[in-house]
Amino acid sequence: MNTANNKNRILQARNPRTGEMDYSFEATGEEEIISIVADLRKGQPAWAAMSVQERAGILADWADAVSSSDELLQALVTDTGRYFIASAELARLSTMVQDWLKIGETIFAEQIAKQSSAPTVTYKHQLVPFEVVGVIGPWNFPFLITLIDLVPALMAGSAVVVKPSEITPRFIAPLQKILEQIPALNAVCRFIEGDGQTGQDLIKHVDALCFTGSVKTGKIVYQSGAENFIPIYAELGGKDPVIITENADPKNTAKIVLRASVQATGQACQSIERVYIHSSIAEAFTSELVRLSEQVEINYPDIYEGHIGPLIFDKQADIIQSHLKDAEEKGAEILCGGLIEQHGGGLWILPTVLKNVDHSMLTMTDETFGPIIPIMTYTDVNEAIELANDTQYGLSAAVLAGDRVEAERIAMHLDAGAISIQDCGITAYVFDGEKNWFKYSGTGASRMGQMGMVRFFRKKVLYTQSGETQGIDAMGEQKPS
Ligand code: NDP
Repeated sequence: MNTANNKNRILQARNPRTGEMDYSFEATGEEEIISIVADLRKGQPAWAAMSVQERAGILADWADAVSSSDELLQALVTDTGRYFIASAELARLSTMVQDWLKIGETIFAEQIAKQSSAPTVTYKHQLVPFEVVGVIGPWNFPFLITLIDLVPALMAGSAVVVKPSEITPRFIAPLQKILEQIPALNAVCRFIEGDGQTGQDLIKHVDALCFTGSVKTGKIVYQSGAENFIPIYAELGGKDPVIITENADPKNTAKIVLRASVQATGQACQSIERVYIHSSIAEAFTSELVRLSEQVEINYPDIYEGHIGPLIFDKQADIIQSHLKDAEEKGAEILCGGLIEQHGGGLWILPTVLKNVDHSMLTMTDETFGPIIPIMTYTDVNEAIELANDTQYGLSAAVLAGDRVEAERIAMHLDAGAISIQDCGITAYVFDGEKNWFKYSGTGASRMGQMGMVRFFRKKVLYTQSGETQGIDAMGEQKPS
């Protein structure tokens, strides 16, 4: 019996700069997903049969078309309400293809025969890519984050269906148009429009699933993956801490923390959302942070001016407000920012620095996803480590100290997958090192480094016997002597 949901529902998207629901689109129904996946399964063997260099060549053509499409750029700008980051998202595809080519060449070169522990047996691996991989992405970096899974999956030889968020759907149609001009890629790569239901439908029909999003949805996705017995690679939320020691330069650390907390209006999983600073330099740090925060400008009315864009998802404004209200009610002091500003229907918030915070407050425990910087002081570094680890998350963290050695000593005790030393948020642009997640921040193999591609293969081993073979007599019973 065919139980597929074949209705293509009509959805609407809000423009983050005007607040208007000015974009309608059809959510891809399950029947259509089944048909797309079937087409991709037909295209995948020819794609997998190409060399990794050939696949990279086709992806490089796609990257050129993507980075030169004004229609695509404008759509992503409208989706996110910001220009600089949208253009950086598109430009990044080209370097990612080059980076994954290098990694792919190393991985494929390892498929050579090796001597086993048995003298007459050699073995070699065949890397069999999953036929069709699903990728479900969030709204904060709608294109870039899907690329983190999409590019290595395609380079591995898989076909891929990507389901971006319904909050930022405008870039999908122009992207599809570009894909259709590259038939070899169009045969194995599809972006579909839709919402959470579309995501659920997709999970049922793919062979592996990459998910980036919230812990709440991640748990549902993980359960759906178990139902269909497919691997789930999930990278979820964070509540990244930074520890600043008494030996750090308060002015320089204020500059670093501000950038890492408020870039992309704090709508980034690797944003610094908690600051633990030694009490001896807290005052100098805080006054410099407030001074710098007050120089940050929103990109309104001119999108090409200022530093930070609007809140992309209006519900995020409610979460930010509830965290600030909760903190104030429990005794926190807001030193700057703190107000959701309405301009032309869009919602913005300036960098917001808080002091007198503690772990009874939502702003120190739950993901805020806004440019909010709560500062807590400590006197003993062990206390700071304990506070930094007192969280359900373990995505990333940072240490700013007098020198690298001091910072690294502290970093070794932090429960998170990536630690930036003498800087914050390095994972926003460096994808080289393999990393896993601690606690609720993710599950499955690393999406970075070599494992980021290896996770898309089933590793098959071929054992070859070159010596004398044995019959059943070799296994005959013998009386012990
Ligand atoms: P969500 O978890 O709400 O959504 C993520 C994606 O899952 C969206 O495409 C969403 O669709 C889809 N989805 C929703 N419900 C389901 C479902 N039942 N089954 C399958 N898919 C579903 O996250 P947000 O989009 O709100 O993104 C913000 C979150 O993402 C934050 O927690 C942030 O920390 C995290 N994130 C993590 C990153 C990382 O690398 N660790 C990077 C960026 C963000 P739709 O939106 O259409 O409903």
